[in-house]
Amino acid sequence: MKIILMLGGNIGDSAAVFREACRKLTAGGVRNIRMSDIFRSAAVDCVPGTPDFCDAAISAEWDRSPLELLKLCQETERAAGRPANHSSRESRILDVDIILFGDEIINTPELTIPHPRAISREFVLAPLCQIEPQILFPNTNLPAEQLWKNI
Ligand code: ADP
Ligand code: MG
Repeated sequence: MKIILMLGGNIGDSAAVFREACRKLTAGGVRNIRMSDIFRSAAVDCVPGTPDFCDAAISAEWDRSPLELLKLCQETERAAGRPANHSSRESRILDVDIILFGDEIINTPELTIPHPRAISREFVLAPLCQIEPQILFPNTNLPAEQLWKNI
């Protein structure tokens, strides 16, 4: 299954954190990782003074279930030193979100895929369009490139 992940963070050396995250994801079974450049942007919906965020998109292959992938993403966050509990709009070392899982639409308490905030966020779509401009979002049936133009 083709998957799209998003790495984000605004504490520490994000380039090094993202490299280590790719190693951890690979060790956990994510195959054929391709990562975009790291894009930098001002924090959105955060308290004033929050450091800029770094974001990168990953396209890869995954053979197990979405929930197993979520578990691996969360283990990867913890391995980077992120506390298991924190509020969502806080500074963080590493956030690993699942943006797309093939053409599946998932709405469960643990997982919403496509990621609900992805299609309205430039900091998701800009890195994604660098590596996968044509990839389709199954809920809208539009390619990433078009979604980016729409915002
Ligand atoms: P955020 O990514 O919104 O800043 P967190 O990383 O703390 O916040 O995620 C909070 C919860 O979001 C996780 O416990 C997870 O179960 C849930 N979640 C729902 N959909 C997704 C998704 N597509 N990718 C990653 N986490 C998701
Ligand atoms: Mg997250």
